[in-house]
Amino acid sequence: MNTISLTLTPIQIELLQKQYPHAILKKTPAYAYYQIALSDCTITAYQSGKVVFQGSGAMLHASGYTSTKAPTAISTSNLADTFPQAGSDEVGTGDYFGPITVCACIVEKEQVQWLKDLQINDSKQVKDDYIYQIGSMLMEKLTHSLLILDNQTYNRIHHEQNMVEIKAKLHNQAYVHLRKKANGLPSAIIIDQFVQAKTYYRYLSKEKEIVEPIHFETKAEHKYLAVASASIIARYAFLKALDQLCTDYNFAFLKGAGANVDENIREFLQTHSQKELYKVAKVHFKNTEKALKNDEY
Ligand code: MG
Repeated sequence: MNTISLTLTPIQIELLQKQYPHAILKKTPAYAYYQIALSDCTITAYQSGKVVFQGSGAMLHASGYTSTKAPTAISTSNLADTFPQAGSDEVGTGDYFGPITVCACIVEKEQVQWLKDLQINDSKQVKDDYIYQIGSMLMEKLTHSLLILDNQTYNRIHHEQNMVEIKAKLHNQAYVHLRKKANGLPSAIIIDQFVQAKTYYRYLSKEKEIVEPIHFETKAEHKYLAVASASIIARYAFLKALDQLCTDYNFAFLKGAGANVDENIREFLQTHSQKELYKVAKVHFKNTEKALKNDEY
């Protein structure tokens, strides 16, 4: 349960009441002016000036009000145990072939044990075979937003934006979609850190909607169930998309970006044009140059 306590002025308390005229409860708790019951949040305004927002939407509903005292923030030490929790991760940024997939999802408290039983809390260790088994289950059960950036679009926008900028916008977009889908976001939001927070927000400066505050942490998929789950869904989507490319082109595309991929590119170009490569690969990777070197194509 998310709880935010603010100390508000009498005018703010009145304004808050007017904001939700249909949600005011008839029965008022002791020492309170009023209590508001929303689907994602209960707001209680006390005669002392203290206003308590409780529920998954606490952050959202409290966000318009500035406390005369500092709001009680969740300390990062217990953030990993705070539910509901939202997390996001991306897959495919290190793979020459295939799209970039980004997933943001929400884990509710009652889903924690189920996820722990699936042993997904160390998602980097999870084998692809297992991801095929559990990926669609997670997608079914968890509220999530999944973005898939196909290669053609990626190659086009990469002319103007670097990979980090593209990633920042995708993560933000995933959270914007998730917020709409879930009717608000939990106060605990974690990104598996790929860039400093300051740079992340700088890249978003021209976006219409920006989701914040977000906690950034490296290797977050080991510590936060929502990030681990998002990571698995993103990986599942990546594997399925790569499988689809293999079917469409009747060709076995390799994962990663190692020397074996250079050879894989040369094989692909024996039966396909370079124009086709643009549709299946991240062509700015060094692999392209290496594969084409010493080659008649
Ligand atoms: Mg990551």
